Amino acid sequence: MKIGVFGGTFDPVHQGHLTAVEEVRAALALDQIIFVPAGQPWLKASRDIAPAEHRLAMVKLAIGANRHFTLSDVEITRQGPSYSIDTLEELQGQHGRHAALFLLLGAELLEELHMWHEPARLFDLATVVAISRPGFELCGLGDLAAIRPDASERIVRLAVTPVGISSTQVRDRLSRGESIRYLVPEAVEEYIYERGLYGVGRPAARDVHG
Ligand code: ATP
Ligand code: MG
Repeated sequence: MKIGVFGGTFDPVHQGHLTAVEEVRAALALDQIIFVPAGQPWLKASRDIAPAEHRLAMVKLAIGANRHFTLSDVEITRQGPSYSIDTLEELQGQHGRHAALFLLLGAELLEELHMWHEPARLFDLATVVAISRPGFELCGLGDLAAIRPDASERIVRLAVTPVGISSTQVRDRLSRGESIRYLVPEAVEEYIYERGLYGVGRPAARDVHG
């Protein structure tokens, strides 16, 4: 069983997340991808994050009927900061020792990986996969050598179809009253308007479904 572990703030989840990991799943023949919304993102503490229940609900809606995608609340229910190393250990425990874990990271995270908690051990617990992302260098070495000498060569680098969407862009567009149609799955868009997330109401011109 090959399991991709895809962590993130998912504030909100968008099409860039979905298209990227679907390509990774196919390329690496992963059986399952577990989306793991972060509880208390310790590197993003400066910004207000939407409540975990909403971020979880939006990922659930985004996954929809895709049986290869699942959702885990391990980082939401855990107290204190969310460390990927703890998440990998917990998921390994849940899925048994025959599960091979793949830690999926967008390319921009390679630059900060050396600042993560126990970064060297991530390589013992999982195959680290770096996913291309527009505007970020996939092959840049950064401070990877500071983690462990073989870190860079052990990382699996995968170029996926470039989709330049970010959650920041989605939030910014909402704050300006601009459309986010097709940037996020329709059900996620509806959820955002229904719950009034990101301080917005539904744009006047937006069609109501149903
Ligand atoms: P924010 O702008 O709030 O940081 P984000 O779009 O970067 O949001 P995150 O929840 O921070 O989304 O990212 C979760 C994971 O998805 C990270 O590994 C990130 O690199 C990856 N990712 C996000 N957007 C893309 C994209 N458009 N293409 C490829 N990978 C992406
Ligand atoms: Mg991000």
